[in-house]
Amino acid sequence: MSTNTADESKYRLPTNVKPIHYNITIKTDLETQEFQGYTTVDLNVLEDTSSLVFNTTKLNIHDVVVHSEAQKSQETQTVNTDFDQKLERAIVQVANPLKKGSKVQLRVWFDGKITDELMGYYTSSYEDNGKKIYYALTQFEPTAARRAFPSWDEPLLKATFDITLISRAETVSLSNMPAASEDSLDGTTDEIIGKFFKDSDPAGWKVTKFETTPPMSTYIVAYANGPFKHLETSYTSPLSGKKRTLRVYATSDLIDQTKFGLDVGAKVLPEYEKVFDIEYPLPKLDTLVAHDFDAGAMENWGLITGRTTAYCVDEERADVSAKRQIASTQSHEVAHMWFGNITTMSWWDNLWLNEGFATLMGEVIILNKIFPEWKVYASFYIEHTESALSLDAKRSSHPIQVAVPNAEDINQIFDSLSYSKAASVLRMLSVYVGEEKFLKGVSIYLKKHLYANSVAEDLWRGIQEATGLDIPELMNNWILKTGFPVVTVTETPEGIHLRQGRFFETGDVTEEENSTIWQIPLTILSTDADGKTTIDNKAILKTREMTYKLDVNKPWKINAGNTGFYRVLYTPERLKKLGEEALRPGTAFTVPDRLGLVSDAISLASSGLGSTSGALSLISGMRGETDYLSWSGIASQLSRISRVWWDQGDNTRDDMQTFLRGLFTPIVRRLGYEYPKGEDVDNVQLRTLAIGNAANAGAKEVVEKLQEWFAEYAKTKSLDHIPPDLVRATFTAAGKYGGKHEWEVLRDTYLAAPNPTARTASISGLTAVKEPELQKATMDFILSGVRTQDIFYFMVYMGRSVAFGRETWHYLQRNYDELDKRFEGNFQITYCVEYAAFLLNSDKDAEDFTAFFKDKDTSKLTMILPQSLDGIRAKSGWLKRSKDDVIHWLEEWRKSNSIEPKI
Ligand SMILES: [Zn+2]
Repeated sequence: MSTNTADESKYRLPTNVKPIHYNITIKTDLETQEFQGYTTVDLNVLEDTSSLVFNTTKLNIHDVVVHSEAQKSQETQTVNTDFDQKLERAIVQVANPLKKGSKVQLRVWFDGKITDELMGYYTSSYEDNGKKIYYALTQFEPTAARRAFPSWDEPLLKATFDITLISRAETVSLSNMPAASEDSLDGTTDEIIGKFFKDSDPAGWKVTKFETTPPMSTYIVAYANGPFKHLETSYTSPLSGKKRTLRVYATSDLIDQTKFGLDVGAKVLPEYEKVFDIEYPLPKLDTLVAHDFDAGAMENWGLITGRTTAYCVDEERADVSAKRQIASTQSHEVAHMWFGNITTMSWWDNLWLNEGFATLMGEVIILNKIFPEWKVYASFYIEHTESALSLDAKRSSHPIQVAVPNAEDINQIFDSLSYSKAASVLRMLSVYVGEEKFLKGVSIYLKKHLYANSVAEDLWRGIQEATGLDIPELMNNWILKTGFPVVTVTETPEGIHLRQGRFFETGDVTEEENSTIWQIPLTILSTDADGKTTIDNKAILKTREMTYKLDVNKPWKINAGNTGFYRVLYTPERLKKLGEEALRPGTAFTVPDRLGLVSDAISLASSGLGSTSGALSLISGMRGETDYLSWSGIASQLSRISRVWWDQGDNTRDDMQTFLRGLFTPIVRRLGYEYPKGEDVDNVQLRTLAIGNAANAGAKEVVEKLQEWFAEYAKTKSLDHIPPDLVRATFTAAGKYGGKHEWEVLRDTYLAAPNPTARTASISGLTAVKEPELQKATMDFILSGVRTQDIFYFMVYMGRSVAFGRETWHYLQRNYDELDKRFEGNFQITYCVEYAAFLLNSDKDAEDFTAFFKDKDTSKLTMILPQSLDGIRAKSGWLKRSKDDVIHWLEEWRKSNSIEPKI
């Protein structure tokens, strides 16, 4: 599937004119939650025409004028304006045709509401001494600029912008560029500004004019107004020696928690300049943290915006995972300042270029230079590759590059394929050609498309120039085809035989579905006669099958470093040997190799290509493992099994818990509960992981410790005695093993959390409760006491909570209409559906799921419904195939191991 031009043209604006420059003035009234605006748009006429078509929706448009220089005497055209609500357009008819090659100016007055829809120009709020205080900010990507001002709202239609904000004198106004001037309105003689006050007094108002932007797409335009405070730092450009100011803005209740993100910005900016060999193009870079936000963060040029969990941390009490998330988010958004903002995808089908690249650059390559102790190259697999492999193993997956002619569908492709699969296949390419050459190619590409637009082929050309390799041949099927391969490896007398075929989690690929041949970088690790290991980075599987010479009696492995986007199926005997080799002291297998072995084993077992008990034996054999990331992979694979076998009887559930306690409690004993200052980050994270997992599995001594801490917290309301990294585990255990009192403390914490970590932890606790009446209390609370932007967190946590079982699904059914209404302006309903279906695992569930949505408006759910249904069927198939195999294996494990006491 690729771009279908005939279909697309219906949704694209006509090309009769091209916008060159916007001059936008917005007056924000935070008291009435309304804004008024006036914009002029300079247009080049590219074809003779009598009409102008531009995007607008939810705005009152009035006094539309088209001014044509060519039609002399400065007179304005008489016009008639029509609206197309569905396509979100205005169509302006002019009296005298506009001539090709002439310049015209569209002038429009408009006004609109500052809504609470988290898009367009929207409102957010916080409480100060019991008083609710409002502020306003914009979120335009992908198609909401048209809700804030009349615009040619497509990424290809770049223009320069002069933005002017009229606001109350005591507030702060922000936009992409620095303010060129800020004046009070007393005695203003500006004719346009004067018109904003024809019915009111300008006393107490001010006008802020911002500098002109470079050419840019509408979706990264931004402005905001409110009682913001700021912190400031700067960095010096390694390319020009120029010093630039960086600020973070937030309201007074948050500003003290925003310094870490600000500092990350100052650290990564010079790194990007060096790698791209292009200086950051704007005079400043601000970050605005908002209480209400749809996504995680948004890369508006010069004014990044983001939610509190993405940017706030109490540095004194910061846990590693909160810091990692902030650094990762900020580095990702800063990467977009080049990739996306300087050079922009021509249309949304190439969204993956923006997001895949910002993910790889921001969250791995650059972050690793700043925080090498976090081993982000290894965690990348768990955080991105794994989730993309999981989605892409579904029949209902889609290619990374997918046609999105209709604006309705654009939001649905902001998924793990656009971000994580795209980043993973780019990573695979960078390992294959070498990171240095890869980055050189990227720099060539960016320099050729400064302030312009591009498509994937342009990036391939840049990397081709740097490497001399045929990049489209290598990459096309990874980008243009759905799915990925499984490589089956068997041993021959001389070496190995490899065969590729498409992988489905349901294991039922048909011949027709199995027609793609991928070019697969094999990265083969082998050992020579002297015991020396080498990695062949150039070996590539370009055909259905091939053989490769190596000594199979010495350690070897495919996909060394685990950077390939595919699964590898070994024979059971070889898998066992690989497991042994992985644990041998001085093994040639890296942590990502070990992670990949476990992940592949479980995934292949789920599809019926391998045995689940074999995968469990591999995990059990890895108990001696001491690396955090390996354990993190093991933990996530085991919760995958737990969430499929969750309703296979109390004995099975108990046996699973027993196995988990057996794995994690000894680690807790070894590492203890204290976090010594300056401790290795790996140990910090392993302790946190082990305590969380042991507590979840009911380990007596661990749960009692956490309960003791929680009781103290409930009494004192102080978190000082709980290590910051364990707040989440403590709150979760309090919910899971507690009663009404604990529930109430958790709810109160959610309502007045001291920091975002505590708020997220309280959600985790409220959704871990076991008693039906407490579960009901949590569910009732969602629509009565939770901020709209947090509802999906409740749904995600509840959906993953085995204690809730099918309750999340029942909850969604009961409240679907209301949830759908709450999320009218955005796409968060898709997450609610995804997680409501998370524990469904039978054919009956699949039927119920289908039946429920039969008469619903599913226009926002065209991707998530088939994907969820595929997921349910895959779980049902896995259970049918391996139910007894797993139950038996767990029983045997219990019988032959010492049992850790449970609460
Ligand atoms: Zn992004």
